[in-house]
Amino acid sequence: MKDLIKDQYGLLYSSELLLSIIVLIFIIAIIANLNDGINEKMLSEEELSSLESIAIKSSDYLLNNPGNPENWEEDDGLDNGIVSKNIIPGLAIKNKNVENGEFFDESASDEMIMSNTISYNKLMKIKNNYDSLVDENLFNNSVHSSMAIYPLNSEIRPIEMGYDFGNEDDNVNDNDIVTVNRTVKCDFYSNFVVYDFNDFELFGESFEDGLCNHDSNPNLTNHVNNDESIWLCKNFRVYKKSLNDYNYYLISDESVKNTGTYCILESLNRTSENKKILNQEVIELNPFFLEDLENSSGEIYSIHFNVDKNRVNDFKTVLVAIPNNMSDVLISNGELNYDYFRVQDVTFILKVGYE
Ligand SMILES: [Zn+2]
Repeated sequence: MKDLIKDQYGLLYSSELLLSIIVLIFIIAIIANLNDGINEKMLSEEELSSLESIAIKSSDYLLNNPGNPENWEEDDGLDNGIVSKNIIPGLAIKNKNVENGEFFDESASDEMIMSNTISYNKLMKIKNNYDSLVDENLFNNSVHSSMAIYPLNSEIRPIEMGYDFGNEDDNVNDNDIVTVNRTVKCDFYSNFVVYDFNDFELFGESFEDGLCNHDSNPNLTNHVNNDESIWLCKNFRVYKKSLNDYNYYLISDESVKNTGTYCILESLNRTSENKKILNQEVIELNPFFLEDLENSSGEIYSIHFNVDKNRVNDFKTVLVAIPNNMSDVLISNGELNYDYFRVQDVTFILKVGYE
């Protein structure tokens, strides 16, 4: 009888043990499964460092090379989605020098490339042909990628392009993506600036430009600086045929509204004393120019600004010439704005991940 009881206990023990073993196997199987799942999503150290290398090298390349062939962004095919296999896009600006928020032509050194710069025009061509230019030509379809610029100036919209890696916050695959951030300079539409009227560097501390026709004409009021205000006067020639290709605008920063700055706009044959208070951010000039060009192929115009001496830093006005076919796009995008005609600091972001 004692033995039987013993045996009963023994049986009980062994069935408990069996159950435990089964449960343990289940737990091990679940953990192993979970591990498999994690391994599928995580890259090996080798893969990750190769992805990092791709991201860093291609960022360096894009921001320090203008691309190949030279002036690739002017290829007509790019506007129609026809992309040559030979184009390797680069973003850097060539032959320019940055000064007072503008890039200037650098004629002395032909081979000069500005490192850590972005040509806005090139960036737009990449945005419109991303699959061909970047996925195929640059990365040979070996990775997914996306590019973006985030201007430090909040008046300018960010631009994003390429593969959608999803939202940063809920992206479970974040470990599979390598992101490169660089702060660089982007030219935006500064190439369209004909005159930057706040370029006092040109005249030195005296703000004198010495080229005003009002000073030499006894019938006109002298534009001589006094204690309260300074004059900034520019003469420039406009050809009738250029009005077919370009829209001219006087574009001011919002800050100019409070400065009491006024301007006088005239042609050499239509001199004027009419003061126009600068309280608009955009003034269209083509209609004014056309008044003198009915019977003439070209005319010399003058623009004279009178600026309060204490407010010169708030006087920010540029004369721009925008190709006709782009004007409507700029207007509808809200980009006919002073900030878009300055060189701006932007954060460039390149993301790459395996297919
Ligand atoms: Zn003047």
